[in-house]
Parts: sequence; structure tokens; C-alpha cells
Amino acid sequence: MKIVPISVPTPFYIGPVNVYLIAEDPITIIDTGPKTKEAVEALRSGLRAAGFRVSDIRRIVLTHAHEDHCGLAKSLRDEAKNAEVLVHEWETGHRHSRLEYEEHRKLLERAGVPDTEIARLRRMYEGVRQYADSFGDNEHSPLWDDSDLAFESGTLRIVHTPGHTPGSCSFIREADRTVIAGDCVLKRITPNPVLSPDPVDPSKRFPSLAEYLVSLARIRSFSPTLVYGGHGEPVHDYDELFNRYIRAIQERQAQVIKLVSGDGASAWEVALKMFPGTDDVHRFLAVSEAVAHLDLAHTEGKLALELSGAKEVYKPL
Ligand SMILES: [Zn+2]
Ligand SMILES: [Zn+2]
Repeated sequence: MKIVPISVPTPFYIGPVNVYLIAEDPITIIDTGPKTKEAVEALRSGLRAAGFRVSDIRRIVLTHAHEDHCGLAKSLRDEAKNAEVLVHEWETGHRHSRLEYEEHRKLLERAGVPDTEIARLRRMYEGVRQYADSFGDNEHSPLWDDSDLAFESGTLRIVHTPGHTPGSCSFIREADRTVIAGDCVLKRITPNPVLSPDPVDPSKRFPSLAEYLVSLARIRSFSPTLVYGGHGEPVHDYDELFNRYIRAIQERQAQVIKLVSGDGASAWEVALKMFPGTDDVHRFLAVSEAVAHLDLAHTEGKLALELSGAKEVYKPL
């Protein structure tokens, strides 16, 4: 089973995104790139170089529903005459024709983000969402953990690897233990566990970092020989990367615990201290990062958590 990486440009800070073509029947792409002219062109020429056209695509599989990965899914599906689109059920983002603004707003409020900042984040997000088409509920099929995507000469095993987002999935070619991991594994940066409502109970937030640690260990249990990430080069030494991630998470953990000393702090206050001078989308990622680490410290019994009005305050024990 031939896996062909295609680099597709994005308008985002992260740089190009990797789309993976599985070049055998049924012709499948994993992720799509954002909805921009440049991205479609890059994808077309990547497909052409491998001897295919968009109309040959029978299956569009999404590692997760961030704009840079899912943006073109709908238009490609239409052009490929109703190719099947598959995404995990917990990946609520662009599956629906609306994003869960209300749920996100509540999560941000609880994290202590001021109203003016929430309004700013929302305006900023309006700018980002133009890079993806949304899906109606009957326009995609679910990816099931531990089941297979069948191809002519073999299978890719679907592995639910939540953390970066609740519905993130990875795909394993078991014959040689090659993994396509989306934004769960990135060579040069530690992926952000993005602040999300819990898909099972949207009034709660998803325990992203705790879930992410389980996902990283699960990928490790397959002893991967090669991991293709959502951005950047593939990873040949997963164990080294795994250990680096764990160290980075422990260091950040120690840092957030220090930052709430004294009277305690909200996730927003911790984010401002951890990443002074960030703005735009990075401010949302900074809050996500702070919440993820504070929640993990709280779960592990290293911090207390109290409600002060609508706002949560983390306190030293
Ligand atoms: Zn992502
Ligand atoms: Zn990405």
C-alpha cells in the first residue's frame, strides 16, 4: 500500500499541512488542506504527479476537523462525485454547520478570559472559519476506533488518539508499523491540546492533556517505525520524540504550578504570564495550553480548583 505525502500551503502560522494519498483502490486522501486557491492547486499537482485526479478520489478521511486539515473536504467530495467523507464522531468542529459558540464561550468564561477578549477571539475566529466548509450530519460517516480501512492490498487500522482535539484519529499500516498521526505527532513542536467542550457532556471541558498522554502511549505501544505528522517531516525515532514530549509536559506542569502560588490564578492569568505579548489565534492557544496543564495538575492532585463566580481559580494545596 503506497502512502504519498503531498505538502499543501496554508495561510496559518504553522505553515504547510501534509495530505496523504493512499494510491490504491479505493483511492483515498487523509486530510485535505484549507479552502484556498493555493491549496487546491498544490493538491491537484500532487495528485497529478502520482498519476491521479481529484475525480479519482473515492474516500476522504480526516485526522481531525481543523481548517488546515478539513477545509477542502466538502468541495473535493463534490468534485469527486460524492466520495465518502470519514471523520470521528467526537470531532464536532466543522461537522456541523455551526460551531458550538455558546459552549466555547462558557469554557472561556470559566477560564477567566475577559468579555472583551472573548469578543475579540470570536471575531478572529470568524476570519479563520472561511478556510473550511462545514458538513451536515448526513454528509459524512464515522471513523470507529480499532476498525480497519480496507484497501486492495491491505488495511489501515483506525486508532482514536484524542488530545489535540477530542476526535483526532491516527492510522496504522500494521505490515510495517507506519503511522499517519495528524497533529497528534509533530516533529518540531509539541502539539497544542486545544480547549474543547467534552463531546460526551458539552457543559464540561475535554480533559485534553490527560487524554493526549494516553494517546501518545497508545501510539508507542505499536512500536512505530515511521510516523507521518500533520505538519513537517516524518518522525523516524518516535521513542525519542515521545520522551521529549513527556519532558516538555513535565516542565510546563512545574511552571504552571509555580505560577498559581499565593492567592491562586485563573487559566487566563496563567496564560498571560506564560506567554506575554501573544495575540490573535496564539492567545486562544495560550489559554488552551494553560487550561490543559492546570487541569492535569488538578487531576493529579497537585493543585486545588475553586469556583469564584463564573470563573475557576486554581490554588496551591
Ligand atoms: Zn490541528
Ligand atoms: Zn494542523
